Amino acid sequence: MQTPAFNDWYAQVKAYTTRLVNIRSVSPGQGEIEVARETLSMLREDGLEHAYTAIGLDPVVGDASGRQNACAFLRGNRPDTIVLLGHIDTVDTKDFGALEPFALDPAALATHQQALADMAPGLAEDITEHSGDWMFGRGSVDMKSGVAANVAVMRHMARLAHHGQLSLSVVFIATPDEENESAGVLQAVQYLLRLRQEYGLSYLGAINTDYTTALYPGDTHRYIYTGSVGKLLPTFLLIGHASHVGEPFDGVDANLLAAELIRDLSMNDDLCDVVRGQRTPPPVTLKASDLKTSYDVQLPFAAYFYLNVLTFSTTPAQLLERLRGYAQSALDRVLQRLIEVERRWTSNPRLSRQSRSGIVLTYTELYAQVEQQMGHERVQAEIKAVWNTMPGGLDSRGRCLHLARHLWTASGKKGPAIILYYSPPFIPHIAEMPCLLHTIAHTIAEVHPELQLEVHEYFPFISDMSYLRLDPGFETSALTTNIPSWQEQATAPHAGTYQLPLAAIQKLGLPVINFGPYGKGAHQTGERVLMSYSFGTLPQLLCEVIERLAQETEAKVKL
Ligand SMILES: [Zn+2]
Repeated sequence: MQTPAFNDWYAQVKAYTTRLVNIRSVSPGQGEIEVARETLSMLREDGLEHAYTAIGLDPVVGDASGRQNACAFLRGNRPDTIVLLGHIDTVDTKDFGALEPFALDPAALATHQQALADMAPGLAEDITEHSGDWMFGRGSVDMKSGVAANVAVMRHMARLAHHGQLSLSVVFIATPDEENESAGVLQAVQYLLRLRQEYGLSYLGAINTDYTTALYPGDTHRYIYTGSVGKLLPTFLLIGHASHVGEPFDGVDANLLAAELIRDLSMNDDLCDVVRGQRTPPPVTLKASDLKTSYDVQLPFAAYFYLNVLTFSTTPAQLLERLRGYAQSALDRVLQRLIEVERRWTSNPRLSRQSRSGIVLTYTELYAQVEQQMGHERVQAEIKAVWNTMPGGLDSRGRCLHLARHLWTASGKKGPAIILYYSPPFIPHIAEMPCLLHTIAHTIAEVHPELQLEVHEYFPFISDMSYLRLDPGFETSALTTNIPSWQEQATAPHAGTYQLPLAAIQKLGLPVINFGPYGKGAHQTGERVLMSYSFGTLPQLLCEVIERLAQETEAKVKL
């Protein structure tokens, strides 16, 4: 069987991408179900209905929107298996403004290029440089073109299987919810474990085809990634002390505590994770607020903020210890400042406070102290009561905050204090590892100098593939015991708890690469995919990865 030529791939992947972009699949929503069905239709059509060993929708267990993964499996001549992964959901289309009616219609957007260029920085230059080579629209590069490439490759593999010429086994998975809470890929973890068990498979890894882009102005490289950045969301509950604004020295302004600490943490490059010369962007806050619900003339007694921390290697335990140091130092400075200001302000300095103190506690420590005071049963009952009266409409960060505040109240302690915990989501980082898939990623880049392919270790944009692997020695308890809403998998869940199948992820442990379409403006009005590379070149390269994996594993069998 012949491998299709550039033009054949191009026409197919362009058609599939268009069909997928045409379906509105903003996450979370019903459109994700429709697009999963459409993906399966594409795999099956033109005589391939019966070509797969298994094909169908795999429901996301417990999903309120009833969403499903689109899955297909081809059993090759050997148990060695490669997984093709992609997500079929998108972010919203509101950013298209007046062009929103055309956001899902690449053909219509092509006729509005000038209006698009007025809204999207850099787009006019790109049009000049690659005239006629861009497809526009929501999901075009992030990442319906990547799923379309996987569909085309999978169909080619299905034909090979039909002729008994497929040596590797291949799994195709298209997931919903990537732009939201990754429910699809977490379901896929279970599916992959089941498949491995049922067919005795041996996974070589997964190829994720999420978008890639220029990393600096004028960058002409195309990138392959052998790992991914991870993310933690440490959260600070700052407890001050209420007092009237006329007597501020009797209180502690929780917003002052927050401000001091935010100043130390946000955009602090000492907190960048540096691994093998690569460096995460510095942390930033994603939200900061006090907890007053109406106007009054009291000092705010409590505030909170959460900090986005990207990771390459830092563990939850390590980050917590570092942040504890920052928190203690900020708290000490604020209290010292209050002492000094009061001394200057008061008419009789000898009557001013000579010392002030406050505490920093992790959620685990606070919990342990409350447990010691109340006993295990009562603290459990207390937490259960908080869950039962949880206000509706809170997101997973809000629920953690609600639980942390109640535990602080239950402790009977007095501020000032800083309670440090983690909010969802947790996204694992993945490093490059010694494995065939990564060796071949490097080989592909070397043998195609004309394509300017470059292999980088950490995919810089958070993606689903993070949930396919957890470093074998990764210590999860500092994470799970410090997420107030964490629920162990074995116990019956409350609505709104946070769970991750960490043990299953560890068991699966797939090496991953991200080898996806190239474009610009993901999550922006000017979202666009470069068609020649993404529709023509990429599927050929994906096939080449699979062929090389097959050759190398074949050679090993013969040895
Ligand atoms: Zn994406």
